[in-house]
Amino acid sequence: MSDLRDLYQELILDHTKHPRNFGKVEGATSQADGHNPLCGDRVRVFLRIENDVVTGISFEGSGCAISTASASMMTEGLKGKNIAEVRKLFHQFHELLTNDSGRLPDLDALGKLAVFSGVKEFPVRVKCATLAWHTMNAALDHQEQQVSTE
Ligand code: ZN
Repeated sequence: MSDLRDLYQELILDHTKHPRNFGKVEGATSQADGHNPLCGDRVRVFLRIENDVVTGISFEGSGCAISTASASMMTEGLKGKNIAEVRKLFHQFHELLTNDSGRLPDLDALGKLAVFSGVKEFPVRVKCATLAWHTMNAALDHQEQQVSTE
């Protein structure tokens, strides 16, 4: 567990200093805005979905270290996944941070994202860590609404 904690601090620092996929991805097909008033975090997530696959994902915004690092790592983790896989990862990540039933989510599937498991001990921070994910999920909903009206 202490290894995971070291890795957590290392990754948070790295992604806060050098956010990945920051800015608007070219050819975005959907986007959504998220706001966490508790902390003041704001994020906008862009998705480019082609044939059911996330071929591009990026984010903009400003917030605390955890919200920025979480958004950055999310974009890395979701690129190239299909929509079903993205939805599944969203649920697994959410479960990792909120589940208190003692049932562990699939850490292998989460990969590096598993380092956020420690955030569960700080309920106020959970909203920071999940903001980008909820926003991404909303962007996915927008996308599917657009598709279904065609
Ligand atoms: Zn925050």
